[in-house]
Amino acid sequence: MGLRPNLLTRRTAGVASTTLALLLSTAAVGVVPAASAFSAAPAEVCAEPADVHSDARVKPGGGAKHEPNELTLAETREREADLAAALRERARFRAGAGAVTAAATVTIPVVVHVIQEDSTRAGGNIPDSMISSQISVLNQSFSGATGGASTAFSFQLQTINRVTNPSWYPIVQGSSAERSMKTSLRTGGKNTLNIYLGELSDSLLGWATFPTRKLNSMDGVVVLSESLPGGTAANYNQGDTGTHEVGHWLNLYHTFQGGCSGSGDSVSDTAAEASPAYQCPTGRDTCTAPGTDPITNFMDYTYDSCMHQFTAGQASRMLTAWNAYRAA
Ligand SMILES: [Zn+2]
Repeated sequence: MGLRPNLLTRRTAGVASTTLALLLSTAAVGVVPAASAFSAAPAEVCAEPADVHSDARVKPGGGAKHEPNELTLAETREREADLAAALRERARFRAGAGAVTAAATVTIPVVVHVIQEDSTRAGGNIPDSMISSQISVLNQSFSGATGGASTAFSFQLQTINRVTNPSWYPIVQGSSAERSMKTSLRTGGKNTLNIYLGELSDSLLGWATFPTRKLNSMDGVVVLSESLPGGTAANYNQGDTGTHEVGHWLNLYHTFQGGCSGSGDSVSDTAAEASPAYQCPTGRDTCTAPGTDPITNFMDYTYDSCMHQFTAGQASRMLTAWNAYRAA
């Protein structure tokens, strides 16, 4: 069933009494009604150049404004061409620097920015313990301890930076406030993972930027604070939104990218999938190509209780991208 028995202790710590919809309705600044929102405003996000294109995770019926993760075929081709170019660039650099080898294991420094409206829990003031648990979830997920492939990556918390600023709350995807927030707060080089936590616009659980050759101040991941382990986001409060968004930050697409045709998510060992899977539809099979849909993969849209793995192909893609884009 895709459960992670070794994480049950953590899971039962969830407080899940408040539904996410309720949670969102209490912090409604900037949240637009889903019906009208679908036809509004997507263009501005999609019109951004691919190097700052962000990728999100949504709940069913959520993602009102736009699904910023749904890259077009042209956008994925552009990203794949850029990856190839970045690899060539790095190979030349390493040759010139005298046998500098590519990293095989990586410890990623993590800076967490807690964006708060005020000092209340509803205003974003989550305890440090939830952040520590999120880092543990990242380390378990990326090590393969939850049942998937082992990846090269581990995570080390450097700083928790608490910021009270009502004008940045909720965090609105694609807004000038998001740009202002990140420009003010982002720290470290391309290898530093900046995580921004808070209430989010448009029912989004999170979004992330893909890696770029030149460090962009927008670089980082944004995660709904109540999606952290022990949070109030029912069905999405075991920390897998964080894992999903970091997957994007390390260059992974969604498992349903490209649907049933073409190169899909550019990973050979994730079965093709026509569209996002929600909840936990065991046995779902939406493409004629071999294999049932990868609903237990972190890069799908299923419940946290359903997703527990990266594949070896995804691990390889992330390490390649690390050495192309983020390694020193
Ligand atoms: Zn996503």
